[in-house]
Amino acid sequence: MVNIFVCIDFDRDYALPVKNIQHAISYPLKEQPKDILSDPKLSASLKGTLNCFKSLIDYLTDFAIPSTFYFEARSLQMLNSTNPKYASLLKKEIFEHGIHGFDHEDLTGDETGIALDRNEELQIIKKAQVEIESILDTKVYGFRAPYMKHTANTFDILNKLKIQYDSSLYLESEKAIKPHEIYENLLEFPVIKTPKQSVMGGMYTYLWPLFEGKRKAEDVISNYLQLVKNTQEDDSYISINLHSWHFSYNISQERYLSELETEENIQIFRNLINKLQESGEVKLSTPKMWLKERKLI
Ligand SMILES: [Zn+2]
Repeated sequence: MVNIFVCIDFDRDYALPVKNIQHAISYPLKEQPKDILSDPKLSASLKGTLNCFKSLIDYLTDFAIPSTFYFEARSLQMLNSTNPKYASLLKKEIFEHGIHGFDHEDLTGDETGIALDRNEELQIIKKAQVEIESILDTKVYGFRAPYMKHTANTFDILNKLKIQYDSSLYLESEKAIKPHEIYENLLEFPVIKTPKQSVMGGMYTYLWPLFEGKRKAEDVISNYLQLVKNTQEDDSYISINLHSWHFSYNISQERYLSELETEENIQIFRNLINKLQESGEVKLSTPKMWLKERKLI
């Protein structure tokens, strides 16, 4: 059996790094005046996430799909203050909660030009951890770096904060993989990228191109089935990675989608999960469940 991890980056609508601003800007708000952009709260929009939230959560709950959410603490805070009922749905047992920065900070400073020293990075991740744990009354086990970019200090900081695993690295593979120790007491659950020369072509296991109309649903499904087919190892996994807003916001078209289009995107995702389940070769899980089964937490 191959473990399938559904992993959802809970972001503001398409987090964009901007020069000289530490927090990310929501892409649809990028033309707003400077005083709005410089405010971490005013420059974040949750519209895309909210437009598909109920349909997505209903599906995951009704079909008992265990899922891992990597939260930007700010977006979770905004959800909790504007839609507390939605936030409380995230407390369900089948959902696991990880950290994805406080304001989707570019930890490396490569894009913003604002490099963080060790203490600044520690304070941001710690603040996010405290906020997520308090809003959802939970314990956080995992971390995914915003933009999948970590610094030389990140793993040591995660260790200090007693985070059990990171999932911010890509690993080229034609089959399901296993986590590995990346730092003392810290496991890495990489995100698969299939090799360019494989039958699957070069595919990151993020559903980004699918929702941007750049990859056909049937190709994505057959690639995931191929990854499963190529796998012999029992305790391996494949993560399916997506963003909380992507069912209802299209970046290349720069528009929020209609209700019908949003439902169609959710249906495509459901199809992918159905086809994997029909193969009889997978079991739905999360990194936390994986760790628990092995008594590592
Ligand atoms: Zn993100």
